[in-house]
Amino acid sequence: MDYVYGPGRNHLFVPGPVNIPEPVIRAMNRNNEDYRAPAIPALTKTLLEDVKKLFKTTTGTPFIIPTTGTGAWESALTNTLSPGDTIVSFLIGQFSLLWIDQQQRLKFKVDVIESEWGQGANLDELASKLAADRTHTIKAVCIVHNETATGVTNNLAAVRKLLDDYNHPALLLVDGVSSICALDFRMDEWGIDVALTGSQKALSMPTGMGFICASPKALEASKTAQSARVFFDWNDYLKFYKIGTYWPYTPSIQMLYGLRAALDLIFEEGLDNVIARHSRLGKATRLAVEAWGLKNCTQKEEWHSDTVTAVVVPPYIDSSEIVRRAWKRYNLSLGLGLNKVAGKVFRIGHLGNLNELQLLGCLSGVEMVLKDVGYPVKLGSGVAAAATYLQNSTPMIPSRI
Ligand SMILES: *Cc1c(COP(=O)(O)O)cnc(C)c1O
Repeated sequence: MDYVYGPGRNHLFVPGPVNIPEPVIRAMNRNNEDYRAPAIPALTKTLLEDVKKLFKTTTGTPFIIPTTGTGAWESALTNTLSPGDTIVSFLIGQFSLLWIDQQQRLKFKVDVIESEWGQGANLDELASKLAADRTHTIKAVCIVHNETATGVTNNLAAVRKLLDDYNHPALLLVDGVSSICALDFRMDEWGIDVALTGSQKALSMPTGMGFICASPKALEASKTAQSARVFFDWNDYLKFYKIGTYWPYTPSIQMLYGLRAALDLIFEEGLDNVIARHSRLGKATRLAVEAWGLKNCTQKEEWHSDTVTAVVVPPYIDSSEIVRRAWKRYNLSLGLGLNKVAGKVFRIGHLGNLNELQLLGCLSGVEMVLKDVGYPVKLGSGVAAAATYLQNSTPMIPSRI
């Protein structure tokens, strides 16, 4: 390992884990508490209510589980499905690939709809599968809202519409790990049955909390779902919800206070402002990429992601070298290209508690690295494109102007 110490702040621009804001860090710096004393259930009650707001659901039942996004996936699947059930799943990048692998290892029959990496979910193919499935053997449609490996955002409203058009009862299970709390996400309106995310992405917390919301239909399905589950069993949570103590096993006290602080920041800014901020930072990043003369891995504008941008490098450059050098020379952490796009793309994460000047710092670092590795870029070109857009469009925090 060629580790070298670097002074100053690390510029953390991987698409998760992301920066943790100071108020959240401070809120977590505290002693343990007895989680059966009245303070923790009282706190938990407000947390569960507020988490529902992030998912834009009033009818969903939230679960906060000590796990990561991967555990939240498992919770969604095992509580609603039985081994051998048919699932339709979209393969468009590394995270959808990993979820499909989990689905197969949990013994579901996975009907995979594959697209080229850089494209969104192929909804025409979903439409033909739904049309052909007159006997309703498809029990669930699983989709990653925002594919973090390629920077592709799928259209969930369109998926819902297809299910409705074909009057198909399949459950809609959505990975919102790099979207919820950063991109427009409407659990109730889009008829999502299970939505999930993890703490270290847009919520800007440490890793270790999974957030899952189940629709009434998903809860109903959990009553008959035969998949083996213990740690992730919703029913254990529901029992403790009923008696008002909320936790079937020990929660992380520090993370609960961290979550309170994180939610307070989000609601103080306003969830819709948070989403609008991501949209501005996403657009600014794409303008910089364009100014550098480089291509976005995402092949169509409708799929552009406002939380992560995967930048395609010319064939004579190894994108891993860019990531290595960014960290070593500039203390800038960028995301690697994963699997099929390894060496071909690097990723800029622009999600979570982040502002314009932080992003411009990152873009400036990327320019220097690009030049270092032999790509002919004019220093300042991407920064200028991004800054011009940011300065001239609606400010990030309207109330501050
Ligand atoms: C990060 C990520 C995951 C995996 O989450 P872990 O917390 O690493 O288990 C799953 N899906 C998406 C879209 C992600 O971005």
